[in-house]
Parts: sequence; structure tokens; C-alpha cells
Amino acid sequence: MNSRLLAAALLLALGSPLLAADETPALVARKVAAAYPALDAFYQDLHAHPELSLMEVRTAAAVARELRAAGLEVTEHVGGHGAVAVLKNGTGPVLLMRADIDALPVAEETGLPYASKVRVTDLAGAEVPVMHACGHDIHATVLVGTAQVLASLRDRWAGTLLLVVQPAEERGLGATAMLADGLYSRFPQPDFAVAEHDSATLPAGTVGTIEGYAMANVDWVDITVRGIGGHGAYPQNTKDPVVLAARIVLALQTIVSRETSPLNPAVVTVGSIHGGTKPNVIPDEVKLRLTLRSYSDAVRAHTIEAVRRICRGEAIAAGLPEDRLPVVTVIEDEATPSTYNDPALTRRIRGALTAWLGADQVTTIEPEMGGEDFSQFGRTAEKVPLCLVRVGAVAPEKIAESARTGVPLPTLHSSKFAPVPEPTIKTGVTAMTAIALDLLAKK
Ligand SMILES: [Zn+2]
Ligand SMILES: [Zn+2]
Repeated sequence: MNSRLLAAALLLALGSPLLAADETPALVARKVAAAYPALDAFYQDLHAHPELSLMEVRTAAAVARELRAAGLEVTEHVGGHGAVAVLKNGTGPVLLMRADIDALPVAEETGLPYASKVRVTDLAGAEVPVMHACGHDIHATVLVGTAQVLASLRDRWAGTLLLVVQPAEERGLGATAMLADGLYSRFPQPDFAVAEHDSATLPAGTVGTIEGYAMANVDWVDITVRGIGGHGAYPQNTKDPVVLAARIVLALQTIVSRETSPLNPAVVTVGSIHGGTKPNVIPDEVKLRLTLRSYSDAVRAHTIEAVRRICRGEAIAAGLPEDRLPVVTVIEDEATPSTYNDPALTRRIRGALTAWLGADQVTTIEPEMGGEDFSQFGRTAEKVPLCLVRVGAVAPEKIAESARTGVPLPTLHSSKFAPVPEPTIKTGVTAMTAIALDLLAKK
């Protein structure tokens, strides 16, 4: 007996007048169990056929087909390869539920029988391996399962389900593209937005929530440090961009350590530095590539401004003329705003998850410095409150083994990340269903 059935049985035994009469969790458990074999086959097929961001043709069509078969009204090609599925069920709120569907250029090393062997030519023309290394195939399968269960339980909720099949999450482009293509004008406007993301640290069968900031602002910044090149033996006749770039790299570290409150998290990482060709040639330029992370809009704006100021100031200190100061470019296309879980919505969702899964299956998670473009759905003028729920995907015995041996578990995006499908998908569907039945409860 799983913990939910146990909880239902206990409540029955205790004679709770409210919950004793509600056999919905047990009914949903039966429906999820009955749906699982087909969902498992669907998952394995998606896993074996991953598609890169902006190339999700087959995946989007497969999910759309299943949602249509479940009785939803499906519109394809929204914001590229996105799809939107609507299920209207009387008067009530509109609940947006989102699954992302894209994969990553990673060569799978899980050894699973349904492991991806796919290689494709990417949009830049390079041949790359492809793998669902972030579990977006889990998300797509959970969305289909949730649609099937909720479509068969129309007598138990009222309102509108707005299911969003989102491409290009890994590039931070898909949510924006769907919004720009009329997600909030061509379709019912949501009152809440919920998404699940699998977790490479939580045990399968559990879920995690956090109120407030859950994921970070992500910004990419490219810097071209310009100098005046020349012979390595005559530095007095040059302005050396290698030395200047080295100064800039170190000075940038003071943005977090000296300019930002320790109570406001931020990260400045220079992940790439390239310049020069030969020991005895002082080059004309050095290129730096940075990732910046933060939670609040104010820290984000300050960090970007400080990068610009430090680059300019260090170059002036090095004697560069105005027309040779560093060029600082914030790559807008790759930016993702932080994900803020609406506290009231998150508390309500946590209550539903605790009632359905049991308190021991619902944990409070830490905020992360990773990014998630689900945030975009809450960043429009409509200010839709949103909540991103994490779903455990790791076999509990693997977590115990990692604790014993000290060998870390594969992270998301690892070639060895292998979610354990059955408990992850079943818990994902149950959690999504519980959330929907709570937020769309009949008055
Ligand atoms: Zn990812
Ligand atoms: Zn992901």
C-alpha cells in the first residue's frame, strides 16, 4: 500500500467527515496505474528520439497527438514547435500547466536499453549527439498522463486547463516565443501557472517546493578587451590586452565580494578567456565570456552595470584611448529572468501535495543558481502567479550508495543522468493532478 492509500485508509478509520467521503486520491491512483504502461512506452519512445532546442518537430507532434486523443483542443506551431492544449470544463479559474520538450547535445552514457543513439546536424551546422539529459521527456510524459486523468475526472473540477508544450527551454527561448505568438491573447488567460521539473537529487516518489526565488537570473556577457598589439620584446610600445584582461578578471570578482550585500546572492564567472597566438606577440585583443547569476532584478542590474564600469575603468587605468575601450555585450537572447514561486500559490500547492502524497514525501528545497525560462510566464503585464515544483527522479538506493561511497550522483545535463521512470512519472502525474484538482476545485 502506498503512502497516499495508507493516508486515505487512516482518515477513513479516523472518520474525518470531510476526507472520508473523498475517494478521489484512491481513484486517481487506480487511473495512474492503469495509464502507466502506455505512458512508459511513450516515455521510452521520447527518450530514444530526443531533439535539440528549436528542432522539436517529432516530439511536439507526438505530445500534441496524445493530448488530442485525451480529448483536448490542441493548437500546434505556437511559438515555433510549441503546442497549446485547452480543456474547458465549466466556470472556474484557468490553470496553465507547462512541460518543456527539448533535449541537449550530449552523448548518452546511461547504458539503458532505450538510450538515445541519435546524432544530428545542429542549427549551426555541426554534427552532435542528442540526449534527454535534463528529463524533459519525463515532463512531456507527465503532462500527457495528467491530461488523461483530468479529462476522465471532469465531474470533480471546474474551470479551464491550459496545457503548454514548450520548446527551446535549454536555450531560454521557447517561453518567450510562445508568449510573443499570443499564448495569453489567443488562448484563455491563466490565473495560475504551474510546472514540474525533475530533480537529480530528490528521491523518486517525492516532490520539493520552495516559496520565493527558486531559480536565478541568467545573463551571458561577452567582453572584447582591446589593446594595441606589437612585439613581445617591446611592451613599452604597446597596450597589452592580456595584462588588462587579467586585471579585469580579478576586478570583476569584487562585484560580488565588495559591492553586493552578502544577503543577496550573485555569481560572476568568467568561463572563457582567449587571446594571442604566440609568446612573443602582444595581441590586439582578448575575448572574455561571462555568466552572471542573481535573484533580484536590482542585483542583476547592478552586476551588469558594474561589469561595464570595471571594464571601462581598468582600460582607462591601463592608458587605453577612448576608441579602444573594451566592448561589453549582454547577450539578450540567452538571458533568462529568475523564477519566483508565488508564496501564497506555493503554500496552497504544498498543502495539496502533502494531503495527497503524505508529509514525508514533500520536502522544502533550496533555491538554485540554475535558470528556467518558465519564469517568463509570470513576467508579463498579466503578472500570473507561478510555481515550479521539483519531482524526485533518483532511485533511493542510488542516493544511499552515493552517500556511502562519496561518489556524486549524475547531475542534470550529465551523460549518465537516468531518471527512474515509473515512480517519477507516477508521482509527477499524481502531483499535477492533485494541484489541478485543488486549484480548480468545484465551488
Ligand atoms: Zn536543462
Ligand atoms: Zn530542464
